[in-house]
Amino acid sequence: MTLTVIALGANIDDPVAQLKEAFQRLRELPGLTELRASPIYQSPPMGPKDQPPYFNAVVAGAFQGKPLELLMALQDIEKSMGRVKKRHWGERCIDLDIIQLGENKTVSPNLTIPHPGIENRLFVVQPMIDILGVDHKVPGLPELGTLREALSNEAVIVCENDVLG
Ligand code: AMP
Repeated sequence: MTLTVIALGANIDDPVAQLKEAFQRLRELPGLTELRASPIYQSPPMGPKDQPPYFNAVVAGAFQGKPLELLMALQDIEKSMGRVKKRHWGERCIDLDIIQLGENKTVSPNLTIPHPGIENRLFVVQPMIDILGVDHKVPGLPELGTLREALSNEAVIVCENDVLG
C-alpha cells in the first residue's frame, strides 16, 4: 500500500457538488482505501481570469496498483462526470490530479509524479497540510510548512460549511 494524494478542483456547474460527487467516486475505486478528505478551499483562477473562482480539496489514502492505473481511473471519473477540455487552464467541472504516490517518481509523457505544480499552489499545499501536517514531505520538495511560507502572498479561503464527505 502506498500513500497517495489526489487533488480535486472544479469551477463550473455547481463546483462544490462536483467535488463531493468526485469524492464519492474515488471511494468506490477498489485500489484506493483509507481515504481522508481536506476542507474545501476557494481561490482565484490560475489561468485565464475571465472564469469563475476555483474550489479545491485534497484527498489522501492508500493505493495498491500501478501509477498509470490510478491515472486512468481518475480520467474515467473525469470523463464520466462530463469534463470537456475547452482551453489550457480553462474552466472545468472536475479536475483530478495525482499529487504524490509515496516515494514514487514518474516522468513520462502522460504522467509526472510528484505533480510538478505543487510548490506554486497554495490551494494544494494548504489542504495537504490540513490532513498530513506541516512536516509532511513530497519527494524532491521541502516540508509542506516551508512551501506554505513561500506562498504567503497567495489567497485561499476555506469554505467553512462545505465538506467533501
Ligand atoms: P489537466 O488539464 O490538469 O487535467 O491535465 C491533464 C493531463 O495531464 C493528462 O493528459 C495527464 O496525462 C497529464 N498528467 C501528467 N501528470 C499528471 C498527474 N500527476 N496527475 C494527473 N494528470 C497528469
